[in-house]
Amino acid sequence: MINEQRICDEFIRQTSIDSPSFKEAAIANYLEKRFKELGAEIEFDDAGEKIGSDSGNMIARFPGTKAGEPLLLSVHMDTVTPAENVQPVLNDGIFTSAGETILGGDDKSGIVEIIEAIDVLHEQKIPYVALEVVVTICEEQGLLGAKQLDFSKLKAKRGVALDTTGIDIVINRAPAANRFTINIFGHEAHAGVCPEQGVSAIQIASRAIARMTLGRIDNETTANIGTIHGGLASNIIPNRVSLRGEVRSHDVNKLRKHTELIISSVEEEVAKATITVGAETKQASMSLELKEDFSPMRVAEDAPILQVIHAASAALDRPQEIRAAGGGSDANIFNGHGIETVIVATGMSKVHTINEQIAVDDMVKTSELLVEIIRRA
Ligand SMILES: [Zn+2]
Repeated sequence: MINEQRICDEFIRQTSIDSPSFKEAAIANYLEKRFKELGAEIEFDDAGEKIGSDSGNMIARFPGTKAGEPLLLSVHMDTVTPAENVQPVLNDGIFTSAGETILGGDDKSGIVEIIEAIDVLHEQKIPYVALEVVVTICEEQGLLGAKQLDFSKLKAKRGVALDTTGIDIVINRAPAANRFTINIFGHEAHAGVCPEQGVSAIQIASRAIARMTLGRIDNETTANIGTIHGGLASNIIPNRVSLRGEVRSHDVNKLRKHTELIISSVEEEVAKATITVGAETKQASMSLELKEDFSPMRVAEDAPILQVIHAASAALDRPQEIRAAGGGSDANIFNGHGIETVIVATGMSKVHTINEQIAVDDMVKTSELLVEIIRRA
């Protein structure tokens, strides 16, 4: 039923077209043509203009051949870098890249599997509901494309994203994240001549960080301070330090609480940092940039879309492992807009490295699973 050669050919064509984030026009042109050949109606939105990419998000609509609730299929067309002149190589049934680039199976494997599944539905004359295939840009840049997607263009209320590593794995939960930059401002002074007149931003930062709980906080919450920048020279009491960090949690309340704890430990240390020089009181200060990066994803175990997936995997006798992810993806955004979306593994592995690879066999298996999911949706 699944055509292995056709999958290989399609995968080689797509991965041979470089598509780093913000430069997706070439792959978008190709996909527009390819999905039109399959019978889809194509629309691009204006997300590219808003975020500085040379293409918008692509929506490919298939009217379907039976009545029922439409189904969303989600993938992304951009890749991480290095992605210049990517050359896919097939050896012993495994695709890798030839040179010092990523392969781009993240997420082109997912796009290829959707195309193969639709080809099979048509060849086998399997009835299916209307499909809305959303291929986003700039997913790897903090889900920028999905965040700009015009959701009024979509009718589906349930979906399957193809965008995670491994095989026979389905993600139903992923954390939300807060990212922040905290600037701490002290007062500059010569460290040898008049240290009494300085307030050290580095010392405030170190006291604050020492109070923070970082790393794994509990089974669904993590926190990190990732960078510290500040200071000018060993003989200058530093007047500025910037801390950048993040908190992730599957639980929005914990996310809020632990973000607040980090911020308040800085606030309290800043408040304590006061000196009096003559008649003048010098006080440290701070500023905060807080970005709520995405909403959490939590699809119930008994949700209709998971029932469809269970029925599909039972038909193939391939049980799916339902698990939580550690990071966010476009599916977080879709769920945030009320489209109940789970993520199905595409077979890719070692993604975001130049050792990225994928077995043809796993693309065959995922396409097969997708056919069974769509026919039951
Ligand atoms: Zn991806």
